[in-house]
Amino acid sequence: MSNSINSPHFQDILFVGCTHGDEQVGRYVFDTYSCGRNEYYQWKTIIGNPEAMMLNTRFIETDLNRSFPGNPTGTYEERRAHQLIPHLNQADMVIDIHQSYSTTPDFMIVNDWTPDIEEIDHYTHFENIIVLSQGVGTYSGLMQIEIPHATAFEYGRQLDMEDARRRVQADIESILNKKPTGIKSKHFAFWKDLPLEFKGQTEIDNFVRLTDEQRKLFGITEENIYPTFIGGYPDKWAVLLKVI
Ligand SMILES: [Zn+2]
Repeated sequence: MSNSINSPHFQDILFVGCTHGDEQVGRYVFDTYSCGRNEYYQWKTIIGNPEAMMLNTRFIETDLNRSFPGNPTGTYEERRAHQLIPHLNQADMVIDIHQSYSTTPDFMIVNDWTPDIEEIDHYTHFENIIVLSQGVGTYSGLMQIEIPHATAFEYGRQLDMEDARRRVQADIESILNKKPTGIKSKHFAFWKDLPLEFKGQTEIDNFVRLTDEQRKLFGITEENIYPTFIGGYPDKWAVLLKVI
C-alpha cells in the first residue's frame, strides 16, 4: 500500500473484543469487522477471552486485563494473555473494546500520547483520555501497559447494548474512513484510590471534577482531580484521576 503524505503511521489495526467476557459489544465488533481492508488500513478482530464470552462472565479465573504479560502455565487468563501477545505485537495499532459497568461517560485508555494515538483521537468521540505513562495508580497487568500500541475504548452504560453498539460503530467507521469528529479531549493520569470510608458522605460522578468541599472532605490538596470507576471495586469507592 502506498503512503501519501497524510497517511497515518500505522496501517494494520487489530480490534479485540470481549477481553472481559461480559462486555458483549465485542461480539458485535467481531461479527461486523472480522477482517477487511480499504484504501487506508487493513484490520481484523479477535476475541480476547472466548471462554468468558461464552459464559457471559467477566473472567474464568483471573481478570484478563490484569493478567498481562501472562504465563504459559498460569491461570486460564494468564495462559490466554501469553497466547495473545504475539498477535497483539503483529499489529501496528490494537484497539481493545470494553464496556463499562457504570453510567460513566465513554473514555479511552492509552499507554502514551504518540502521533498514532493523536491520529486515532481525531476520529473518535472520546472527551476523556487516560494516559498510563503519566501514572498507573494501583493497576498492573494491563494489556495497555504491556503492549504500548494497544489502546482501550471504554463504552459506558453497559446494559444499553443498542446504544453501545451505535457508538462503537460510529467510532470504528470514522477511524477506518478517516473522518475527523472535531471533538477535543481532556487528558488524565491515574492518581490514587478513593477509600471506601468516604462512600455516601458526598455525591461524586464519573469524570466530574471534585469540588473544593469534596477535596477538603477527602483531605486532597491537588486541584484538578476527577473520580472514575465509582463503585466498581470492592476495595475502594472510586479511582481518582489527575488532569495532565
Ligand atoms: Zn472491560
